[in-house]
Amino acid sequence: MKTKPMQWIEIDSSALTHNIHQFRRLIGKNRKLLATVKANAYGHGILEVAKIVLQEGADWLGVHSIDEGILLRQKKVNCPILVLGYVSNDELEQAIKYNLRLTVYNPETIKRLGSLTAQSRRKIRLHVKVETGTHRQGIREEDLLSFVEKIQRFPGLILEGMSSHFANIEDTKDHSYARFQLDNFKKSCKKLEEDGIAIPIKHIACTAATILFPETYFDMVRIGIGMYGLWPSKETYLSCILQNRKPIQLKPVLSWKTRIAQIKKIPKGAYVGYGCTFRATRETVLAVLPIGYYDGYSRDFSSVSYVLIKGQRAPVCGRVAMDFIMTDVTDIPDVKLEDEVVLLGEGGGDSITADDLAALAVTINYEIVTRINPRIPRIIL
Ligand SMILES: *Cc1c(COP(=O)(O)O)cnc(C)c1O
Repeated sequence: MKTKPMQWIEIDSSALTHNIHQFRRLIGKNRKLLATVKANAYGHGILEVAKIVLQEGADWLGVHSIDEGILLRQKKVNCPILVLGYVSNDELEQAIKYNLRLTVYNPETIKRLGSLTAQSRRKIRLHVKVETGTHRQGIREEDLLSFVEKIQRFPGLILEGMSSHFANIEDTKDHSYARFQLDNFKKSCKKLEEDGIAIPIKHIACTAATILFPETYFDMVRIGIGMYGLWPSKETYLSCILQNRKPIQLKPVLSWKTRIAQIKKIPKGAYVGYGCTFRATRETVLAVLPIGYYDGYSRDFSSVSYVLIKGQRAPVCGRVAMDFIMTDVTDIPDVKLEDEVVLLGEGGGDSITADDLAALAVTINYEIVTRINPRIPRIIL
């Protein structure tokens, strides 16, 4: 028999399927759905998630780095894969070899790709990132035409798409900046088209845009957080309500579990953990759990978060250590060594969501899930 791990991530494939279908219903069947699987599929497990979402109708995958793209290709994933991040000049040869599509915004990249494709007699498909106001990646509008003409000079380079990304669509209920960026994107595309340049695939929408603004869909949407069953923000949810629309139903996909490594009684007045920041105000039963900040359980949860044991909340006592946390189980009867513990997810009628943990650590659900250490086993349910 296989030994049980001391911690694991459960992936609810029916929830993932449900979420994908929700977005498909929004965008219709003729637009492409790019599933964003960067950051180890937002902590969910890139290979596990890729397989399921492609079966369930995602058309493309989006990755951050060339390494993620190569990993998918080596595991026989042969759908279109778009690299959203930066690929260094040294890595460009690999991008061609593995048939990855690239997001481009530097003339140096174009020059190098031009000569590499000429040497190898192969082709590569490119998506030009347009600067619309995020000021992260992107080509300024005034430089766009000359950049595109550089691409067109090389027979091995195919201009396949034009993309941009919103800066301020999740953090607010005021979407004037998003509208400004959408206008800029439209103008830039229109200008190029008036110059006779065909843009087969235009795309700008992330999860929040897809939920809130159909006019952002164009030819493809890039869905990340929503696919994993999490809302981009409270503001996105409220905006949806304010639009008098029934919000789409999203089901969280990930649970994170561990088991109790030791149970011990400590006297009133005893200190717990590094820095002696916690001191028991009564005789206390502690359950020691074999997970810590190395695993992605943030040190910001020290003395503020809780876990679920037998459906009851056990508060974290004192500092989160590298590989351990201590929890108070004094009032939970019949707790035994190696009992299952829910760090994130549902258990016995209660739950701890990524949003709950994000609020406790003053961050966003994206960071909570993407930080979960990739070496923890992912189990598909
Ligand atoms: C991560 C990412 C997305 C997905 O964003 P979500 O808010 O998770 O849907 C879309 N586009 C780009 C360029 C990204 O980097």
